[in-house]
Amino acid sequence: VLIKPKRSTINSRSKVDLNREIRFKYSTIKWKGVPIIAANMDTTGTFEVYNALKEYNMITALHKFYSLEDYRKMLEKGLDPNYYMVSTGIGQQSFEHLSSILSEIPCYWICIDIANGYISDLVDFCAKVRETWPDKIICAGNVVSGDMVQDLVLYGKVDVVKIGIGPGSACTTRLKTGVGMPQLSAVLECADAAHGVGGHIISDGGITCPGDMAKAFGAGADFVMVGGQFAGHDENPGEMVEENGEKFKLFYGMSSEHAMNKHYGKMEKYRSSEGRVIKIKYRGPLENTVLDYLGGLRSTCTYINATCIKHIPKCTTFVRVNNQLN
Ligand code: 5GP
Repeated sequence: VLIKPKRSTINSRSKVDLNREIRFKYSTIKWKGVPIIAANMDTTGTFEVYNALKEYNMITALHKFYSLEDYRKMLEKGLDPNYYMVSTGIGQQSFEHLSSILSEIPCYWICIDIANGYISDLVDFCAKVRETWPDKIICAGNVVSGDMVQDLVLYGKVDVVKIGIGPGSACTTRLKTGVGMPQLSAVLECADAAHGVGGHIISDGGITCPGDMAKAFGAGADFVMVGGQFAGHDENPGEMVEENGEKFKLFYGMSSEHAMNKHYGKMEKYRSSEGRVIKIKYRGPLENTVLDYLGGLRSTCTYINATCIKHIPKCTTFVRVNNQLN
């Protein structure tokens, strides 16, 4: 799809404000910022990325492998609770790890993240997290249909549902399982379902260029989560590799064999790898990419007469196309 331009009274991109203020269904925290989130992958959900993104009021979902000690060190340097999320899985150990972090670190956001948000344990775990921390902004996922979005909001008591199965740049779920949903259709359906019951959504995965991000917001996403496009910079961990004079950095799916070996020392035989390793062209400081995305979004707004991100969906008319580019 593309977004149709409309008559506009916004004559300059500088008139567009990308900060949005959001109130949530359960949490009493009022959040203000640019609703873009770096993915909680170990290549993008890092303290270094947080330091770069917080300057632009953007959020970093920190990956779940940071220890309490890592958080303590970071806290000494200064952590703004508005702009980072603590991630967790749904096992008992994960809950204990989360509890230990939250007992010492001031944090607003919890991101409960599993690859398959359809398993029934997720809703139960979310409800337990809500009972334990009634005030936090709780996100959970991933799912791609309205029924599960409403279950998570109404019974799991989460504020924000994360949407996306299969669109990720380092993801092979669609190939390995045949399961998935086209991301734009998923966002259209899930935004409607979430907003109908007072919830919000994050569109997670599949962003390849600033235009994709505009379309995610246009389809109703309240937040957009980005992995691959925020990788390959100075701030991202990992070695630089050089091939034929070109520089690359490694980026890999969190369910890839590479990540499994790194964090668990092995890959269990009963599972297959649903992620891959890709080489991302080295792109210098993350700020370059951030400015490219923010500039693109501001320009989208001037084309469709939206003064802020909140107005993008109501100003968006999609047109189905065969080719995005000439
Ligand atoms: P990207 O912005 O790179 O297109 O997508 C990032 C998203 O891909 C992440 O936020 C996460 O939801 C998803 N993802 C990360 N690692 C894996 C993986 O190994 N397998 C699958 N299926 N998805 C992944």
